[in-house]
Amino acid sequence: MFDRLKKAFSNIVKGLSEKELSEADIDKVFSEIEIALLESDVAQETISHLHNTLKSELVGKRFDKSRDTQDIVKDTLKDIMLSIFSNAGTLDIVEMVNSKKSKEREPYIILFLGINGTGKTTTIAKFANLLRKNNISSVIVAGDTHRAGAIEQITEHANRLGIKVIAQRYGADPAAVGRDGVLYARSHRVDTVLIDTAGRMQTSRNLMDEMAKIVRVIKPDLKIFVGDSLAGNDTIMQAREFQRYTDFNAIILTKSDSDYKGGSALSIVHVTNKPIVYLGVGQGYDDLIPFNSREFVEQIVEGSNNNNSR
Ligand code: GDP
Repeated sequence: MFDRLKKAFSNIVKGLSEKELSEADIDKVFSEIEIALLESDVAQETISHLHNTLKSELVGKRFDKSRDTQDIVKDTLKDIMLSIFSNAGTLDIVEMVNSKKSKEREPYIILFLGINGTGKTTTIAKFANLLRKNNISSVIVAGDTHRAGAIEQITEHANRLGIKVIAQRYGADPAAVGRDGVLYARSHRVDTVLIDTAGRMQTSRNLMDEMAKIVRVIKPDLKIFVGDSLAGNDTIMQAREFQRYTDFNAIILTKSDSDYKGGSALSIVHVTNKPIVYLGVGQGYDDLIPFNSREFVEQIVEGSNNNNSR
């Protein structure tokens, strides 16, 4: 997992071994490594951020003689990445749901956003399963009323898990289906409403207008963008677009189990400044794990194995 990014970072470290580093040393390493970083799905602006921050942290400093420069470079790279993740903050969704439940006795509403094929439907099912393991009940809303088969697809997942689905016919207003879901949850004392949404229409403008309307009408407590970690730069572009129209709060990256590149997680958080809450790591309903930024960073810089690379 993430092998390309690990290799690119190890080449940065290898290229910087002098006891004092100049701007030219760092520029040289980055000019050699830029393509490898792009090929690892690191966005251009994230590369520039790493490059500039590394310069401002290291250039002209005389390093402690007892410490290997490469270790100092490694620690600096880790700190730069960790600060990207910590700037985006963290969210404990289970705790947020429980807090609303105890204070307001109202269902907690979560909207799932993203393009078809990224794993959104499967992720909603995984998420319902994860909530249930935390004693939180849910109802799923079949809010993609455009794509043929979408309602059956989400219903099949929900049936397998024994979770109620609220659906209307194809062509129905997704905001109205969402409202039905909220009413159902209120009257049946269900803790959360998980709303699927459309992922592709004739134009992206249509899609974004529809998403903005759902957000206005439903007023979800949380909006989660679901992105495919294998789609690299496309995922970053989609995230930017959804952020513009919906101002989502959090990200789930799917298919991390097959991601041999690794740059998507760092780039999407840097570009959107929103936290990744979970990673999809397989096709089963249990294959959704909390994203741990510290473990991710260690894994990239030290090449070690841990939970994020199950
Ligand atoms: P949607 O169109 O966005 O709703 O996508 P689906 O939920 O139907 O998922 C598309 C495909 O990706 C399916 O074959 C899923 O089993 C698969 N998938 C979803 N999440 C993951 C994941 O985390 N890892 C892997 N390997 N496959 C996944």
